[in-house]
Amino acid sequence: MNRLDFLKHLGLLSAGAAILPTNFSSIKQSPFTELRGGIGMFSMQGGTIGWYTTDGAIVVIDSQFPDPAHAFVEGISAFGTGPQKVLFNSHHHGDHTGGNLVFENDGYTIIAQKNVPALQRTAAQNSDNEANQAYAATTFENEFSFDAGDETINAKYYGPAHTKGDSVIWFENANIAHMGDLVFNRLYPFIDRNGGAMISGWINLLETVAAKANSETLFIFGHGKPEFGVTGSREDLLHKRDFLSHLLEYTQKGIDAGRSREEITSRTSFDEFPEHISPSNFLSLPRNLDVAWLELTNS
Ligand SMILES: [Zn+2]
Repeated sequence: MNRLDFLKHLGLLSAGAAILPTNFSSIKQSPFTELRGGIGMFSMQGGTIGWYTTDGAIVVIDSQFPDPAHAFVEGISAFGTGPQKVLFNSHHHGDHTGGNLVFENDGYTIIAQKNVPALQRTAAQNSDNEANQAYAATTFENEFSFDAGDETINAKYYGPAHTKGDSVIWFENANIAHMGDLVFNRLYPFIDRNGGAMISGWINLLETVAAKANSETLFIFGHGKPEFGVTGSREDLLHKRDFLSHLLEYTQKGIDAGRSREEITSRTSFDEFPEHISPSNFLSLPRNLDVAWLELTNS
């Protein structure tokens, strides 16, 4: 593995607690990428940030960690400025909310699904990191919409999936949606059972969102294997749905055949999904199978 490949490999660890170096001396590219319609993304450390700037408003999805959040709030001024500043949290995980305090101090109003603040508080208590949190001041149960510039921004909750507080945030006019961690693009996903995850709900969500999309819809993903990246199409949503369906089917077959939890969860890859990789033990097929086993046995 050469140095660049190794650094890319390190980048895959960002879904976990791992903290990545923020300056790769061999990579001089801007963390800001423009997509279309005033919308872009920002990748530095943690779950991909989505952003939209228009006259008088900045709308951001997710806050990574404090250092990248500082780099973001400074750098975004090249693309537009407030006074209306809104930060959505796609869900509560630390690599999506860890920079919230930086955004709040910069005048952003934080919005999230109503289950997010409590999940975030519990996670912060468990990691002894409560002092560095800022929580959504505005929450919603199922849906939250507002207009800014040419855009209608719509955040929608579809029920428990990756956690019990995931939103899909749509930019209706540009036909772009931010999926948070509902797609780990060709990575074994984190399925946060303690955070209320439900694999069956996640499968339904991906099907529903893919049906709402069309062939032009561009999706932003929280994490991805470098060759596949952190943007994609509805086909990528359906591929993840197929993986999760296979995960449940494989586990159920094992249970029906009387195999033990240890036997079922010893599998490290599926022949049907050869492109999926495991960047760490934290994101691995055995971990996914164990959550499937817990879900199917109601344990
Ligand atoms: Zn997550």
